[in-house]
Amino acid sequence: MAQGPTAAASRNLVTQRLALALLVCAVAVILALESWQVWRNYQNAFASARSDVGNITLAVSQHASDALKEANSLLISIRDRLDDAPLAQLDRPRMHRLLARQAALLPQLHGLFVYDRDGNWLVTDQGAIPPQANNADREYFQFHRQHPEDVLHVGAVITSRSSGELIIPVSRRIDDAEGRFAGVLLATIRLKYFVDYYARFRLDERGAITLALDDGTLLVRRPFQADFVGTNLAAGELFQRYIKQADTGTAVVRAVVDGQERLYAFEHLQGYPLVALAGISRSAILASWRQDMLRSIVVVGILVVGMLVFGFSLLRQIRANVRSEAALRQAHDDLQLLTLKDSLTGLGNRRQFDTLLPLELARAQRSGQPLSLLMIDVDHFKAYNDHYGHPAGDRCLQAVAGVVASAARRPGDLAARYGGEEMALLLPNCDELGAYRVACIVQERLLALELRHATSPFGRITISLGFAVHQPDQTRQPQAASLLASADEALYVAKHSGRNRTHPSPVPD
Ligand code: GH3
Ligand code: MG
Ligand code: MG
Repeated sequence: MAQGPTAAASRNLVTQRLALALLVCAVAVILALESWQVWRNYQNAFASARSDVGNITLAVSQHASDALKEANSLLISIRDRLDDAPLAQLDRPRMHRLLARQAALLPQLHGLFVYDRDGNWLVTDQGAIPPQANNADREYFQFHRQHPEDVLHVGAVITSRSSGELIIPVSRRIDDAEGRFAGVLLATIRLKYFVDYYARFRLDERGAITLALDDGTLLVRRPFQADFVGTNLAAGELFQRYIKQADTGTAVVRAVVDGQERLYAFEHLQGYPLVALAGISRSAILASWRQDMLRSIVVVGILVVGMLVFGFSLLRQIRANVRSEAALRQAHDDLQLLTLKDSLTGLGNRRQFDTLLPLELARAQRSGQPLSLLMIDVDHFKAYNDHYGHPAGDRCLQAVAGVVASAARRPGDLAARYGGEEMALLLPNCDELGAYRVACIVQERLLALELRHATSPFGRITISLGFAVHQPDQTRQPQAASLLASADEALYVAKHSGRNRTHPSPVPD
């Protein structure tokens, strides 16, 4: 039999749910992959920015180290010359020429100066010494006067008294033969030298490069602003939490001078009390990442919307199919009902009989009730046709069928046209006695019709009946074919023992 409508409907429901789950899964997977990608890009943006600022910091620190190292070795070699004789006896013109020559060799140098123990200018690399010029008030001079150690001193930025330029003083102490303070040797480095160098780096417009003293005093900064020079950064988070703790590192902090949030790298100079910093603004780091993210949100959005639209229209399609399938099934069922009837007699047809026989047998087996099968055949029907004509034969068949149908009284009874002028009665829950009674009823009712048949020995229409009864038996499976064969055999016996009679199956089925 065809699949029941409820089974088909539930299978369709499962299909729809599966399709919906698949759609949801696909969308979820796409969204998860995309989120992961966006997160990865975010990490990568910071990683590459970290390496960029690290490299800039390294270059800046190397550049400052080189500038200081050159100035320092120049100071040392000049002091070696000065050691030859007391400062008072210095050959100033000769020393001036030497300083001028040396200063010209180093582009970062603004000037070279020799001061005596009272801060008076003795010699410089420059033309004339201003009258009464005295630098005893300068921080580097006081430092060396108070500190006997032979160290290179790097001071905060000052404005040159000789040129008005911003300079970084780099100085060493001069001792006399007895080791007492005899004066200071000073090299000044142009701030511009650093400003120009820092301008060459490719950095976003909110990026910053800074060179500061270890104590936090700002020396140079890009973008350059004279007001910022000398600002103390020591209180800022970067100095407090990072620069004081490590030689080198990176951190995301808000800048002291302009409040901008940046990713900074820092590096202490080797051997000098300075620190180099470079920072890229957080907004610059995230700008291109944000752009990429927006682009992929648009692409994924279109993809997801497309999938949803496609998926839901597919689901709608499936639902429409289900509806039309149900309608089709209904039509099919209606049609099948029609095809189960014999058109001439209105009895069940052979197809219905063949379908129901095994089902009734199985039910009889389950319920333990007997099942009777009666086979009915019109006697000498060929002769009837020949004598009265085929249309009359049809009408006669209809009359016989009416009698047979009237004998099928219970809801489970089936009267069917088995083929030609042969009919069958299938009687569930009917034993041998019952079957015999029904056969008698059929015979009586047919007799009552008094259908004339001139060429029959009986002078009227008669029928022969054979029946078999299936007794449920749990030891073997019932076979439709064998019940049919038994009933047929009984009919055969009825025919051959004279017709117009009923005969039971010679062997019980
Ligand atoms: P018997 O007593 O041995 O049954 O002889 P019979 O002539 O009835 O049997 P037979 O099988 O020789 O002939 C059956 C006839 O029934 C042949 C056929 O023309 C006729 N027949 C079968 N179906 C129809 C039908 O639908 N309409 C008509 N008019 N005749 C039919
Ligand atoms: Mg016949
Ligand atoms: Mg026949």
